Amino acid sequence: MVDPVIRAGDVRGAVSAAVSAQPVTDIHTHLFGPEFGELLLWGVDELLTYHYLIAETLRASDVGYDAYWAMSQREQADLVWKTLFIENSPISEACRGVVTALQAYGFDLTTRDLDSYRDALRDVRVEDHIDRVFELANVESVIMTNDPFDPVEQPAWAADRAGDPRFLPALRIDPLLNAYSETGRPTLTALGYAADAELSATGLAEIRRFLDDWVTRMQPQYMAVSLPPDFAYPEDSERGTIIRECVLPVSRERNVPFAVMIGVKRAVNPRLRMAGDGVAKADMSSLERLLEQHPDNKILATLLSRENQHELCVIGRKFPNLLVFGCWWFMNNPSIIDEITRQRIELLGLSVIPQHSDARILDQLVYKWPHSRAVIADVLADKYADLSASGWAIRQSELERDIAALLGGNFRRFLAR
Ligand SMILES: [Zn+2]
Repeated sequence: MVDPVIRAGDVRGAVSAAVSAQPVTDIHTHLFGPEFGELLLWGVDELLTYHYLIAETLRASDVGYDAYWAMSQREQADLVWKTLFIENSPISEACRGVVTALQAYGFDLTTRDLDSYRDALRDVRVEDHIDRVFELANVESVIMTNDPFDPVEQPAWAADRAGDPRFLPALRIDPLLNAYSETGRPTLTALGYAADAELSATGLAEIRRFLDDWVTRMQPQYMAVSLPPDFAYPEDSERGTIIRECVLPVSRERNVPFAVMIGVKRAVNPRLRMAGDGVAKADMSSLERLLEQHPDNKILATLLSRENQHELCVIGRKFPNLLVFGCWWFMNNPSIIDEITRQRIELLGLSVIPQHSDARILDQLVYKWPHSRAVIADVLADKYADLSASGWAIRQSELERDIAALLGGNFRRFLAR
């Protein structure tokens, strides 16, 4: 078998080709398999009414909050298109993403005729569209965000699920940890678990039973929560108690990692609804203590604030039970992906997951992955070029091995550990 050393002048091209060719395991999305029916969002109007674009439209247009929310989705999409794509050039990352997706579908961008783009997707079967999107994005599987507290989603899990195997579950437990009294406990009670307000020993056992049952039912890749910037651990609070007494033990016993996504400030501007969340810097010593006090727990972590990224890399160096992943939400922009990916590679080598898409709409895979791949390839090309210039022989098979680890292998190995 030929496994040539890549010549110094060819390193950049070889890296770029290998990153493009490597299928991705997308470890955090809000996508759903087709068996979830209307929970799977796709198509042009969904793309245009993505919450990133709602926030940008309401900045650029004179339409107010109430008038916007009173519109049908089609009218909202028309407004977004007119405001951000016709009256202005679609230069922001979220806008550029729509353009990339329309181009990938082969639509004529010179017409700027939104209705023609809608028409072109109207009669496709969703199953065919999923195949096309996965192929265009070169994604082999995506991990969903599955919420047992959501009454719309619950029924999909009631029976034996025979889902599309490319869509893998993740057990999302935000209401249990962030709104125990308001949503978490009432839902548990309604589902037949005797969770109590004072978190007695019996009540905590019931929460563990709930988590255990859902791990059995869903077979999730991990359990996940998004946390505010003031998340503290340990903490004398409902959240702190439930994490310590319920989530971490079940996570350990069932070998299902706990994923923490820290830094979201919910409803900074509630008039924007889902588009109204913000960011703030978190206290990273809480993550350090979580890892230090629970060395037998596997933790996945991503941080929303740019200011936390360097500390996260340093914590990664100290704790092998932490897998750092993705450039989350406001971090998912080329300039910041470039910066974060360089930091991570320099501090943690190949032992990271550089990106996830966070896609909410199926079609977003078609732009989020090419955009991220280009940046990741650029960073890696610099690193391998430096190695090559230092006299290290870069072999094609080793390059492919490394990139396969970054884009999926590291995650599977972490799960299997
Ligand atoms: Zn997300």
